[in-house]
Amino acid sequence: MAQAQASISDFPFLIVGAGFFGATLAERIATQLGLPVCVIDKRDHSGGNCHSRLDPQTGIEVHQYGTHIFHTKNERVWSYLQSFSAFTRYRHRVLTQYQGRTHVMPIGLSTINSFYGLNLKPFEVEAFLASEKSREIFDEPRNLEEKAISLIGRPLYEAFIRGYTMKQWQKPCTELPADIITRLPVRSNYDPYYFTDPYQGMPVDGYFKIFERMLSHPKIDLRLKTDFRDIRHLIGDKTTVIYTGPIDQFFDEKFGVLEYRSLRFETDILRHQDYQGISVMNYADPEVPYTRIHEFKHLHPERTEVFNSTQTLIVREYSIGRTAPEQECYYPVNTARNQSILKEYQSAATGLKNVIFGGRLGQYRYIDMDQTIANALSTYDEIAKSVSGR
Ligand code: FAD
Repeated sequence: MAQAQASISDFPFLIVGAGFFGATLAERIATQLGLPVCVIDKRDHSGGNCHSRLDPQTGIEVHQYGTHIFHTKNERVWSYLQSFSAFTRYRHRVLTQYQGRTHVMPIGLSTINSFYGLNLKPFEVEAFLASEKSREIFDEPRNLEEKAISLIGRPLYEAFIRGYTMKQWQKPCTELPADIITRLPVRSNYDPYYFTDPYQGMPVDGYFKIFERMLSHPKIDLRLKTDFRDIRHLIGDKTTVIYTGPIDQFFDEKFGVLEYRSLRFETDILRHQDYQGISVMNYADPEVPYTRIHEFKHLHPERTEVFNSTQTLIVREYSIGRTAPEQECYYPVNTARNQSILKEYQSAATGLKNVIFGGRLGQYRYIDMDQTIANALSTYDEIAKSVSGR
């Protein structure tokens, strides 16, 4: 006989969202405090935006919400994640196509030399950039274009920042605020790797396996395809809610809707062993409508059978404004309007008992996976203290 589902109000903890923030807290509360946790997610899978799946035709692991590379300086986070997966030694590299030529990202010695047709040495880079920047001086840059030119000079800006940023924001850089960027670091060496963190890699058997393992404890009751808005009336006053959905939706958008950028992904399966030779290729030309192409098989060259197969799967990524509620929220839009609305929600949140807001949507802030897990572990420390003090 099927067991009756426990009522939401019986759980001491209800976690809304099975991404890294929610999954980390569920795992800690269940395994360390021995308390039952109900985890709900409106999607039909766990993992939040870090979810991946194996494509049935090619066997390639696809990151459904864009390529996710794990990298961190945080030892606590790295050692915590080792309990759920071993990691490969993958190190991420990114290339950019501009006017039919390919350059290394972020901008470094290789990029400068290939772009200008030079053969500078590391100790010559600073003086070269200073002379490029001195051609146009902006004492008080009024917009992103002026700011970027003042940081790296006009030619590099026009090649690598102007078109790409315009596609990302669907606005010219002259209409974007200067403070979107504070610096544009330029490397004076040939380091080809995108991240410099000491701990980097890809989960050996996939992100989806990490979440399966994190949420497998018998004290965790995972309910997918369950929207918080449909069940919130069932929550009793003995339940603490850990909410990782959009903070404005929690309050029925009463102070206004927080804006996000969204993305559109277009998938193709191609009859090539290798399409672009790298996992992520950026496209800086404004005429190319997408911002980048992901070729996921390059994230796992060690999966030799899938890697060597004569087909590959690519995904073109398009940046779009979020105009309809069914479009996914990807990147918060950092404007004065949104920050002021956010403050109202944050102040309403501090007045609530038994609700903890967390994660990227709960905080309305872009955060990497490692920061998300670090924040969740700190939140757990607070919860553990208050449980042991009861
Ligand atoms: P999420 O993963 O978004 O999880 C929140 C969950 O809450 C979702 O599953 C959602 O369905 C659920 N939810 C929302 N509302 C409700 C509701 N009403 N009811 C029920 N469930 C709800 N980080 C890196 O470290 N490296 C990378 O390479 C990287 N690449 C990225 C690429 C892109 C395109 C983006 C957008 C982000 C990237 N990130 C990367 C950041 C990473 O995705 C986040 O750090 C991480 O997903 C945050 O986890 P989370 O649990 O806060 O949120």
